[in-house]
Amino acid sequence: MFSNKKIIAGNWKMNGSRMEAAALVDALLDKFAEPEAKFNMIICPPVTMVAEVAAMVDGSPIAMGVQNASHKESGAYTGEISAAMAKDAGARFVIVGHSERRAMYGETSEIVSAKAEAVLGAGLTPIICIGETMEEKDSGSASAVIEEQFRKSMPAGATVKNIIIASEPVWAIGTGKVATITDIIEIHTKIREVASSVLGSPDVSILYGGSVKGSNAKEIFAIKDVDGVLVGGASLKADEFWEIAMASI
Ligand code: PEP
Repeated sequence: MFSNKKIIAGNWKMNGSRMEAAALVDALLDKFAEPEAKFNMIICPPVTMVAEVAAMVDGSPIAMGVQNASHKESGAYTGEISAAMAKDAGARFVIVGHSERRAMYGETSEIVSAKAEAVLGAGLTPIICIGETMEEKDSGSASAVIEEQFRKSMPAGATVKNIIIASEPVWAIGTGKVATITDIIEIHTKIREVASSVLGSPDVSILYGGSVKGSNAKEIFAIKDVDGVLVGGASLKADEFWEIAMASI
């Protein structure tokens, strides 16, 4: 997964039905003409659709992830699923610390770190999300916020090879506002600087997320420092998600 191929990750959030999920995966699988894909595609459905999706993508170029997992291993945690359960269901990736979870479910960077550690412990790859709000950007503190989130969200045992960072400006998620090339380069440069300090190397995979669409994907992939994208809304449409993936090659 950590080749020089770009990573195209889709976060379906709380959308769709099992039937719609099957139709979406079917449509994506139909588009893979060559057995050796030129990019790494990951889809993260809601947990109710995970069984069908796992069966459908098994042996295909598409990998499956989930959108969240508990930092606890097992027990009396009503409504939660563990990283081991996600693995058992066929997931290879777990999104942790998405800004929606940080903002709406009180997930602090310390919890995100514990979740990412549980994900690593289960043998899966955490996609650790970090990102600044518009207020933080406007006040000139974006870099400091990113550094603090990165440092505090890092799990024990993290290396540049076993985690993925998703850099997602909060103000760009689901808003149609995309970060400028300058914004992206500035934040990714900061992330690589902090990765060097914390993980001993700048070469961590960094995804950009925030209103990525078929129409803007080419210019985002033109930034050398972008290793892939995390896509919300546009990952629910097979044609558009494919257009984004094709823009990466
Ligand atoms: C996301 O949910 O991580 C995201 C980037 O959403 P959208 O692409 O819809 O902005």
